Amino acid sequence: MLVQQKYDRGDIRRLNAVSVLNQLRSNGAQSRAKIASALGLTRATVSNIVAELIAASIVHETEYVTGEAGRPGLLVRLNANYGCMLAVDLDLDRTTVVLANVGQEILWRESRPLSVGAPAQEGLRVVSELIERALEVGQAKHLNCFGICVACAGMVDRLLGQLAYGPTSHWEHVSLRDEWESRFGVPVYVENEAHAGATWGHHYGPRPGVQDLVYLSLGVGLAAGVFVDGVLLRGQQGFAGQVGHTFFADNYVRCSCGKHGCWVTEIGAIAVRRKLVEAGVAIPEDAGANGDWVEWVYERANKGDAAIMNVLQSVGVQLGSGAARLVQTFNPSVLIVGGRLGKLMSLVEPTIQEALFEQTLPIMAKSLQVVVSDSSDNHLMGGLATVFDVLMRNPKLRD
Ligand SMILES: [Zn+2]
Repeated sequence: MLVQQKYDRGDIRRLNAVSVLNQLRSNGAQSRAKIASALGLTRATVSNIVAELIAASIVHETEYVTGEAGRPGLLVRLNANYGCMLAVDLDLDRTTVVLANVGQEILWRESRPLSVGAPAQEGLRVVSELIERALEVGQAKHLNCFGICVACAGMVDRLLGQLAYGPTSHWEHVSLRDEWESRFGVPVYVENEAHAGATWGHHYGPRPGVQDLVYLSLGVGLAAGVFVDGVLLRGQQGFAGQVGHTFFADNYVRCSCGKHGCWVTEIGAIAVRRKLVEAGVAIPEDAGANGDWVEWVYERANKGDAAIMNVLQSVGVQLGSGAARLVQTFNPSVLIVGGRLGKLMSLVEPTIQEALFEQTLPIMAKSLQVVVSDSSDNHLMGGLATVFDVLMRNPKLRD
């Protein structure tokens, strides 16, 4: 049966408002004329929408600029102080919480190390304390909080708001949303970390708005977030992208998931640390600021430590050749390597590229852009974008 979707004038007004907000989020302050031409709307329509958004305090007018016709005009921008949002990066060995305003400026952040394999309650207690402090900072600034997005390593059931299963942490059916919504009194969204990274890449990555993208999150775990034709692939249960647990090498290494030879057993953080130790690199137990051994290794490698660079080069080859399989499966225009090890992998970017392009069909490699991101904020920025998406879908306009 053909179901015809009908939109009334209010729906169209709302959809147009969402488009205007999206345009401002991706491109910053813009004139009404520029918004109209970018969205293919009339200037009158854009002016009406902007007037409503200004009345609702979601956007405001800012400095004068000289327009194309030489006349001065006002720019429209998101009202950064409309409210705030929280993002949590709940990785296996570390957690970070940030508080940002609607303009995506980070107002507060704090990180804490976590012990891999520790019980869920122990990790969640650390995260809850950080969330509490972030909310206090938001309240002190008189910012209304629109929500918290938790980006988790592992398989996330978004509908139930749970971490369904962590192949490395072995956390099972950990309820995050219900518990934290009642405790903190704001909406909580739970997302897989690689999916959050891909959402960052889609909105703010090297090509904002890119429709076909693979984001590889490389840390203690290894997973991919994939956009195809502008849609994030989630799969039947929402678990799509567990590429770290696909077979990679006959290495007889038992993976935390119970299988042998998974890709993560060669290039994940535990494997990289093991390989560094085997190569004679003496990583101190309390290495680096806040006990972050990745930072310690990065600094040494940056100073030209040959043993470290050799290990990173060989991991880079394995990363590139595994990524070639993803490129051939999904045919993206951009592939981003991010996550906790992104910074280390950025030191061997040419090696990764070489291995990847060597093993990718030339016709698909031709138009592929490969980027190794050394930022540790991708999953957090993706989390903030997730909360902002919800806020934008239902802007509080007059009916
Ligand atoms: Zn595995």
